[in-house]
Amino acid sequence: MDKNICVACGMCADGCPEGFRMGADGLAEGFQDLPAEALEDAQQVAADCPVGAIFIS
Ligand code: SF4
Repeated sequence: MDKNICVACGMCADGCPEGFRMGADGLAEGFQDLPAEALEDAQQVAADCPVGAIFIS
């Protein structure tokens, strides 16, 4: 996750709430180790992030 380029659209938190949430600063953050069952959603929001700010390792 590169917060420096996040534009706070909220898509990742909507699409993969197990992996991402909007932080107090208004930007997305990964807040826990990604549960295995959320991996597919995380990969999808990573692909869909308008600025490519999400990296799934
Ligand atoms: S989808 Fe990308 S730009 Fe939108 S809130 Fe998430 S990290 Fe930020």
